[in-house]
Amino acid sequence: MKVIGIDIGGTAVKFALLTEMGEILETGEFPTEAGKGVENLFNNICKVIDGYLSEDVLGIAVSGTGQIDGTVGKVIGGNPIIPGWIGTNLVEKLESKYKLPAVLENDVNCAALGEKWLGAGKDDKDFLCLTIGTGIGGGIVLDGDIFRGKTCVAGEFGHIQIEKNGEQCLCGKKGCYERYASATALVKMVEEKTGKKLNGKEIFELEKTGDLEIKSVVDSWIDYFTDGLSTIAYIFNPTLVVVGGGVTKQGDYLLDRIKKSLDGKLGENYKKNLEIKFAELGNNAGILGAEYLLLKKIGKLK
Ligand SMILES: [Zn+2]
Repeated sequence: MKVIGIDIGGTAVKFALLTEMGEILETGEFPTEAGKGVENLFNNICKVIDGYLSEDVLGIAVSGTGQIDGTVGKVIGGNPIIPGWIGTNLVEKLESKYKLPAVLENDVNCAALGEKWLGAGKDDKDFLCLTIGTGIGGGIVLDGDIFRGKTCVAGEFGHIQIEKNGEQCLCGKKGCYERYASATALVKMVEEKTGKKLNGKEIFELEKTGDLEIKSVVDSWIDYFTDGLSTIAYIFNPTLVVVGGGVTKQGDYLLDRIKKSLDGKLGENYKKNLEIKFAELGNNAGILGAEYLLLKKIGKLK
């Protein structure tokens, strides 16, 4: 039997048809058209689902942007870029329309669960996930499940304060971790220092040519990243932290520097068994994590 996977982002909606083993048979995407509101989005999602109904479909697994109560599949907060999205119970809507089981969970939590099922965390029941992108997202996997917290917004590591009276954050606080250690922050820091508007990939390419000005910015960005990472390690004493996001395409070139920088910030007992790995599932992690949740919901996975 097959699972329909959908990943709703602020700019694009990705979808896939998957086997019960998480093999991706077919993928596609369409623009979110966030400004047109939630009904337009729902209709476009339904067109995708309708197209797959001739398959033997087990259920619908959705990963979505924003703060989500994954226990019921309802959007409960976040950046209001899609009018009507906050307050929507997508699971209720999908289940009543299609008479198929559905799940909806936050995209970073889904990415963490995807890595747990088939990626960098597959051998661990407990680990943390950090996603470096526009902001810094976090996911806490405990005993193979996502730890949601009382109101389902646990693990927002991006809003740990690392600079008193620092940069203004969208959350209302100043000096949040993601203002200094996200990919967006790296791009901004490079522009401030060099006047050059470069994307993440270009920044690392230029650094590899021996550009010392860029190198000093990247070093300082890594320093910020491991400041936050060490705080998180002191709280959880984890054995594994999986780091995701576009910058992880840099592989060991970046990972080795992160490990070296972190090493000087942790006590012996914290670093003794700590492993830092880059995520393995790339852009598919969200859809795969949503499928993992769906399979657990219907009892196909423990
Ligand atoms: Zn913040």
